[in-house]
Amino acid sequence: MPGAPAGARMCLPGGFMDREIFSYKGARLLIAATAVLTLLEGMCIILQAVYLAGMVSSLFSGRSVSDIYGQAVMFFIALAIRYFCVLIIRQIAYRFAERTSSYMRKEFLAKLFALGPAAMRREGTGNLVTLTLEGVAQIRKYLELFIPKMVANGILPLLILGYVFIQDRLSGIILLITMPVLILFMILLGLAAQKKMDDRWASYRVLSNHFVDSLRGLSTLRYLGLSKIHANTISRVSDRYRSMTMATLRLAFLSSFALEFFTMLSIAFVAVSLGLRLVDGKMLLDPALTILILAPEYFLPVRELGQDYHATLDGKEAMNRLHSVIAPYNEQERLEAPAPETWCGNSTLTIQDCSFEYGRKQKKKALDRIQMSVSGYEKIGVIGPSGAGKSTFIDLISGFIEHSEGSIKVNHQPVSLTDSAWRRQITYIPQHPYLFSASLKDNVAFYAPEATEDQIIDAIRAAGLEGIVRRFPNGLDEKIGAGGRPLSGGQEQRVAVARAFLCNRPILLLDEPTAHLDIETEYELKETMTRLFKGKLVFLATHRLHWMDQMDRIAVINDGRITEMGTQEELLNRRGEYFGLIRSQLEGVY
Ligand code: ADP
Repeated sequence: MPGAPAGARMCLPGGFMDREIFSYKGARLLIAATAVLTLLEGMCIILQAVYLAGMVSSLFSGRSVSDIYGQAVMFFIALAIRYFCVLIIRQIAYRFAERTSSYMRKEFLAKLFALGPAAMRREGTGNLVTLTLEGVAQIRKYLELFIPKMVANGILPLLILGYVFIQDRLSGIILLITMPVLILFMILLGLAAQKKMDDRWASYRVLSNHFVDSLRGLSTLRYLGLSKIHANTISRVSDRYRSMTMATLRLAFLSSFALEFFTMLSIAFVAVSLGLRLVDGKMLLDPALTILILAPEYFLPVRELGQDYHATLDGKEAMNRLHSVIAPYNEQERLEAPAPETWCGNSTLTIQDCSFEYGRKQKKKALDRIQMSVSGYEKIGVIGPSGAGKSTFIDLISGFIEHSEGSIKVNHQPVSLTDSAWRRQITYIPQHPYLFSASLKDNVAFYAPEATEDQIIDAIRAAGLEGIVRRFPNGLDEKIGAGGRPLSGGQEQRVAVARAFLCNRPILLLDEPTAHLDIETEYELKETMTRLFKGKLVFLATHRLHWMDQMDRIAVINDGRITEMGTQEELLNRRGEYFGLIRSQLEGVY
């Protein structure tokens, strides 16, 4: 991938370190180029001071303006070269930051797509959107500033100090001693700022998740008459964020003030010592002026580093957040297994003793030594109470998560279901399918953009959407999704079914597809869905037991374990857990 940082691994566990920047592609070249340009800049700074001091002392000693003409030209040439170097450094650093951060965003998004809904649920959409948009912009700023500032701090003060030492040892000693004091103050203030910044990020994360949640649930909140109360909560969270931002800003002002104060104090020391020796006649005006002009330049890189520190801290923090979102998933060991073969009528899938836990800190396994063997176009019903592990099981089959123990085989070969070749064989219908803000036609054809209009119409007909398409003023081109015509829950689900008809993939996963629908809508949809099941391996996770008539076998999950599995008849005869579930549901009805 062009611009891909060579060593940049989004999957690096643990926190991000500054030195990791050096492993990014182009970083070493940038450091080398910046070092050469900074050295040139440093020499120009010294020349500038020398010529300026020369001009002033010449005029002071009574020479005419025409005498200093040559020095003035040299001064302006040095000035021009200095700012030219600064300009070039900025441009190359900007390009590096732009390339690296956009690569990071791409890789982060690719990783999120690969991790799928499990990561989205865990992190919260608002937080992820903030990280991807704002976080990456802050990382860009950090990358842009970090290398030039580091190089400038490594070269310019040393170069200037060396020159001052040659000219006047005492001034050199004053400058040498005051620098560590300045740096110590910066570190102390930096540590305080870091703490504030951590709190600020945590509060921002709450705010963004809260905001996205509120937008999504706005209609529900209004129906319940709770929108005012919720608005107050948002305003409270925003206010906390505002006061945290103000605290960080206060600290930023304080540190700027401290920096300025100490720099001025150090320069004043140099000026006083030079002045006293000038009065005593122990020093000439020309070198004294040169040193005085150079003293602020000596502190300038450190001061700039201090000023930008708060801006770069945001970027560094965002970088850590980016890593920490991905790191827990990288802890799961990746299996070096090949991609499964294309599923067909005589394929077999064997799951042997597979377990999964959401992070190492979770006490309970979400899936505990799952055993299951399915073949061909079987229809498997997955039932169990809420929190039993049905969705996690569907995520395992879809390859969104990888098991920590056990093995999965397709046609008796160990495979990795996280492989994209497996995912391309799967259609997934969740409880709330996502409708893009696009026409009905584009929504149906989203996963099969090469489909012809006739094929799309066939899929829409098969999903029972014909009737509503006829009622739409723009027919197939009617805009749905956010900002478009609202659809009922059943109609939304039919759009998902139409997509599945159009893709016609051999494996179908359904996770509570009708849990939010009223019973009439569900029965209407059931007939359409049953047609969709034909010629496919189907896993249907639901707690609505009437679907089990359509299933070849039923797996009962409880506490992450498959407690019973068999045909409906076998399970009823067994009078075990499934029988108990049926009985309690019937008791609920009668
Ligand atoms: P079901 O679909 O049967 O309601 P799930 O598969 O969603 O159950 O959840 C199984 C268990 O895993 C539950 O105890 C749930 O709290 C936990 N769980 C689900 N998703 C996550 C997650 N993203 N992070 C941590 N724990 C989770």
